[in-house]
Amino acid sequence: MFSYRHAFHAGNHADVLKHTVLIATLDHLLEKEAALTVIDTHAGAGLYRLDGDYAGTSGEAAEGILRLLSDKKEPAAPAPAPAAKTAAKKSAPAAEVPLADAIARYLGVISDFNPKGGARVYPGSPFIVQHLLRDHDKLKLFELHPTDARTLDANIAQLEAGRQIAVLRDDGFGSATKFLPPPSRRALVLMDPSYEIKSDYGRVLDFAAEALKRFATGTYAIWYPIIPRPEAHDLPRRLKTMATKAGKPWLHATLTVKSSKITTDASGETHRPGLPASGMFLINPPYTLKPLLAAALPQLVERLAQDRHATFSLDSGG
Ligand code: SAM
Repeated sequence: MFSYRHAFHAGNHADVLKHTVLIATLDHLLEKEAALTVIDTHAGAGLYRLDGDYAGTSGEAAEGILRLLSDKKEPAAPAPAPAAKTAAKKSAPAAEVPLADAIARYLGVISDFNPKGGARVYPGSPFIVQHLLRDHDKLKLFELHPTDARTLDANIAQLEAGRQIAVLRDDGFGSATKFLPPPSRRALVLMDPSYEIKSDYGRVLDFAAEALKRFATGTYAIWYPIIPRPEAHDLPRRLKTMATKAGKPWLHATLTVKSSKITTDASGETHRPGLPASGMFLINPPYTLKPLLAAALPQLVERLAQDRHATFSLDSGG
């Protein structure tokens, strides 16, 4: 069984990128009244404590959401929420420092889970999505790890969301396509595997190909780690080819916070850098996403950089 537990990584720089993109994408999709189905093929536990043992041990949130929050000289004004849910959003005071809209909006959502400030509670993708969805939208969550699936179940049960949310202890790659196309023919699919096993890269490609065949107009968002492994570098290239061949628009955003080099200190001890970078690849992205990320990514680099190798890229086509 897998050893990956997202609780160790919640709120790290990869979550900051992923969840900023997720929120910006959802905001656009929720502007239309017709029901939206969101499928999270790799859901995790749903909700995390950043002051708990897991996050405390890894310290990854300190270089992600917590750094972003501490860097925020003045409270950020959340970007306007979609009309349908405006009433549910709690706004932070007006800002003096002009944060990019997508970052301000992300921090606004995090602050909704932390009314007293800070980020003791960090919402994973299931809770972020549920927070934004309207009553007539649907959410399908897949989680295979028995412990995380149990925690997810318990966390979701507290929302009393009834039939709006389905938690499936099942292989997201193997069975999520059965929900495509959804009855309203509007869907966002988030694919966020842990890539603990090499075959995850190939399974993302197979899943995306099958999903596009079943439902060519769905929006597909794929997170991946940028690590020194050929599969990690091939994945966005192959997704780009797939989208282009299908005649579908795509968007590719990456955030690097540090060098990927393994270093050796004076005592001869080797230091591995941990995750230095990650990317989001979207097929059929909202047209609003690129300008939002063009403003947000340089600010994320500035605020989350751990060395001079920090950088971003933003590319699109179709
Ligand atoms: N999407 C979550 C978020 O943003 O908060 C984080 C998900 S975490 C990166 C990946 C999760 O996928 C882990 O909890 C892991 O147990 C689960 N997982 C691994 N393989 C899976 C599979 N084939 N189907 C469903 N879940 C899987």
